[in-house]
Amino acid sequence: MTERFHGSFTQQEPIPEEGIAAALEVLRHGRLHRYNTVPGEAGETAVLEEEFAAFTGARFCLAVASGGYAMGCALRAAGLRAGEPVLTNAFTLAPVPGAIAAAGGRPVFVEITPDLVIDLDDLAVKARGTGARLLLLSHMRGHVCDMDRLMALCADLGLLVIEDCAHTMGAEWAGVPSGRHGLVGCYSTQTYKHMNSGEGGLLITDDAEIAARMVLLSGSYMLYGRHRAAPGPEVFEGLRLDVPNVSGRMDNLRAAILRPQIPLLPGRRARWGELYTVLEAGLAATPGLRLIVRPGAEAYVGSSFQFLLPDWEPARITAFLSRCIARGVELKWFGAEEPAAFTSRYPHWRYAGAQHCPLTDRILAGLIDMRLPLTFSAEDVALIARIIRAEALAVGQAEAPGAAAAPVVE
Ligand SMILES: *Cc1c(COP(=O)(O)O)cnc(C)c1O
Repeated sequence: MTERFHGSFTQQEPIPEEGIAAALEVLRHGRLHRYNTVPGEAGETAVLEEEFAAFTGARFCLAVASGGYAMGCALRAAGLRAGEPVLTNAFTLAPVPGAIAAAGGRPVFVEITPDLVIDLDDLAVKARGTGARLLLLSHMRGHVCDMDRLMALCADLGLLVIEDCAHTMGAEWAGVPSGRHGLVGCYSTQTYKHMNSGEGGLLITDDAEIAARMVLLSGSYMLYGRHRAAPGPEVFEGLRLDVPNVSGRMDNLRAAILRPQIPLLPGRRARWGELYTVLEAGLAATPGLRLIVRPGAEAYVGSSFQFLLPDWEPARITAFLSRCIARGVELKWFGAEEPAAFTSRYPHWRYAGAQHCPLTDRILAGLIDMRLPLTFSAEDVALIARIIRAEALAVGQAEAPGAAAAPVVE
């Protein structure tokens, strides 16, 4: 009997009942706009900011319309000028270079290592070569580079660091929450991330002027005094007529849905970690398949899983993927010629101009990605691992002319 998986790779958990009740209350009173409050009322958005600041330990927090908006807002607040180069990982998701371009910057891609994090040597080369002042560091798929080394290097290079924490909300490096190393941490609360409000974003910083600029940029209509996780009015005084309004506020409905999810983040990280570990164990020592080494200093959120099929020919990868999908296991491949769903990669982002990252190309050519929704059980994930392992072995055997055993491709 061939085993088959029947779960959905895109089905997230429901919104907690508490969030549903709070959302209904907002709908019943109708004050969805964040600044539409009655005397004595803070509003769900302002309280969400206060609670997320407390969760991360940041001084200031701003809730916005999306993760992409959050990154663009941080870049603008950091003084990005038209046409200025902004360094970012060559392996990231489309909204990252998109946010740079939308804010008027020019994305410059930095190589990644086989552990899927930014290559610090190439970062130094590209920073010196372009004279860039800004790094939009993407913790892509939750893989965190050595943040202590990175921050020391960026200090040397005079680079301001803005962190894209779309996949690291709730993660840590050496005990420091992801998003707390750089000048600004940017998060997404889109459905496929670690808290779900459909769409949404959060920004954190300790820098009062940057925080004030971000609040003004987000569209505060001089109502910044209603914020609870923003600097005092004196910081806004000198800025309020100079910073443009680029509306991208969060609303009270989404904030109401999100607030009860903050205290759930540590439990979600533990559950994701369990699923991740089961999958990792199930795929260990599969010939031809390389797992990603997770450093001990990294407390990651395993909301997705990656592995490499190093130097497999495209036809063999395609055969492997179709055999997996035939058994209900939906894998994404970052090496495909044409992007499918979220798998576009830097050569597809033509507006950024032709760039060449040969190390990254070689890694992405064999990079397989899978979502791990929390609606999966440990048994589901063990079954998925058995299917992937069997199909990797089967394709290996079929492709090796005359060989009885699967060839080891490393
Ligand atoms: C989802 C995502 C974003 C942006 O999030 P949106 O809320 O969809 O704009 C940014 N970076 C990465 C790596 C992402 O996956």
